[in-house]
Amino acid sequence: MKGVYVLAIIVSKDIEVRVGALGKIDFKEGWYAYVGSAQKGLENRVKRHLTGIRQRNFWHVDYLLDNDFVEVVTAFYKAADKSVECEIADKLKKKGVPMAGFGCSDCTCESHLFKIDDYDFLRDFMSEIQLHGTTTITNDTLTQEMYAHCAADYLRSPTDPVQLRSTSRFADQSIPVNLFSWM
Ligand SMILES: [Zn+2]
Repeated sequence: MKGVYVLAIIVSKDIEVRVGALGKIDFKEGWYAYVGSAQKGLENRVKRHLTGIRQRNFWHVDYLLDNDFVEVVTAFYKAADKSVECEIADKLKKKGVPMAGFGCSDCTCESHLFKIDDYDFLRDFMSEIQLHGTTTITNDTLTQEMYAHCAADYLRSPTDPVQLRSTSRFADQSIPVNLFSWM
């Protein structure tokens, strides 16, 4: 399925990260919101970000998420066209501080990554614009959950879930699947 997503990211101390071609960027401790989209394979993209499992770094956010002091806390998503991605970025810009040039190589936005005041603001804002939230990192349940949420927009049966053999540092934590979910 295709859709947009917003990652709630926590940076637990001040860090400097080399972000691909952007070079070194300073990130202050605190909360960040990253906006992305996938024109196909939204579920795999969200899994990639939640699990940290990837062949190589490709997107700017991959470099940030590589850092030991950076975690994705929640991935918000909905089935939508790509244009919605930049609309969300534009709205977040009014509520956060844009990290110049981050994640917006293929559009005219100032940024797709914003430093925000706190998680509650983001959760409420995501609810307002009808993105579903998930902290699920196991493959099967995430796929099922995402298809359930997006079924109204995309009536497509789930593909065979790809079995991941290793998982992230969250692997042994049991997080309620629907903790941050809305319909
Ligand atoms: Zn944009």
